[in-house]
Amino acid sequence: MKRHLIALTVILLVVLLLVSACQRRMIAAFGSNSEIVIVTSPRCADEAAALRTILEREMLTVQCEKAFTVRVIASGDVKAEQNRKNIVLLDFLDPPGRVSDKILSLAGADKDAFRQGSLNRKAVRERWARGQVVMLIAAPTEDDLGQVLATDADRIFSFVSAEVQARLNRSLFDAGEQQALSERLAADYGWSLRLPTGYEVDESHTSERVIKILKKRPARMITVYWEGGVWNDRAARCLERKKMLAWEFWDQDEIVEGTVEVQEGTFLGHEGVVLSGTWENKKYTIGGFYVTYCFTCEKCRRNYVVDASVFAPGLEKLPLVRELKAVLTTFECCEQEQD
Ligand SMILES: [Zn+2]
Repeated sequence: MKRHLIALTVILLVVLLLVSACQRRMIAAFGSNSEIVIVTSPRCADEAAALRTILEREMLTVQCEKAFTVRVIASGDVKAEQNRKNIVLLDFLDPPGRVSDKILSLAGADKDAFRQGSLNRKAVRERWARGQVVMLIAAPTEDDLGQVLATDADRIFSFVSAEVQARLNRSLFDAGEQQALSERLAADYGWSLRLPTGYEVDESHTSERVIKILKKRPARMITVYWEGGVWNDRAARCLERKKMLAWEFWDQDEIVEGTVEVQEGTFLGHEGVVLSGTWENKKYTIGGFYVTYCFTCEKCRRNYVVDASVFAPGLEKLPLVRELKAVLTTFECCEQEQD
C-alpha cells in the first residue's frame, strides 16, 4: 500500500513538473492586434477567399478601411503560424484532412456538433501561445461550408470581431498597468478605468466633471464626463454632450454632421446610446474617428459620457479604436448611493 502511495506521489510530481514546464514554454502571441491568419488546406482555396472577403469588409472611419488585415495560409501548415494572436482554422470535415483533424481535436466536447453541422464556429483560447485566440470555422461537407460562408457572413464577421476584441481586452495589460492611478480615480471621482502604461491623465477640468486621458503617437484620447439629473431623451442628450465636450475641452473639435451613427445598446450592463463617426477641427485642419458611450448608472444616479477619439493621419484607425474600446471595457462606476 505504502509503495503504491509513493509511486502515485512520484507520478503526480512528474506530471506537475511536465505541466509547469509546458506552461513556461508557452510564449506570448505576436503580430498585430488586427491581423487574422486563416490557416486552411489547398482544397479550401475558394472558401478561404470567401472568408477573406467577409473579414476585409470596408468600414468607414475617416476614410474607408478594411476591418481586418487577413493572411491566408493555404498549405494547412498550422505550425508555422501557431504563435499568432488571431488564427482562424477553416476546413470541411468530410473527407478528413490535416486541417479538419486539427479542428476536431480543438473542438473538444463540441466535436460531434461540428460533425453534424449544428455548430460551425468556436473559439479556443491560449492554445499555442499566451494571449491568443484560435477560431474554428467548419462544416460537414464542402457544400455545407460554402453555404455557411454565403448565408452567415454577418454572423461570422460578428463572431470574429467579438473574439478579436475579447482577446485584446484580455491582453491589454500584458505590458504593464497603472494600478495606483485606477485606485486614485475611484477614490477621487467615484469611477475608474484600468490604464495600460503610457496613458496620461489630465485633471485640469475636474471642477467641470471632465477627465481627459491621453496617449500620444498616434494620439489616443479618452474623455470621461458625468452629471446628475434625469436623461429623458438619451440619444439627443448624448449628442449634445459629445458636441460640448469636443468643442470646449478639445480645443474646438466638432463632429462632422452626416457621419454620425446613433445606436441604442448597452455599455457594461447599463442601458445606453453609442455614437460613432468622424470629428474635425477647422482651426488646425485635422480630424479623426470617435466612438461615444452615454449611459446612466441607476445605482449612483449619474449619467456618464465616455468617449474615445483617435487622431492618426495616414494610419489605420480601427486598431487604435479597438485598443481604446478595450480600455473602456474596464470602466467601473462607484457602486455607492450618491447624495
Ligand atoms: Zn454606479
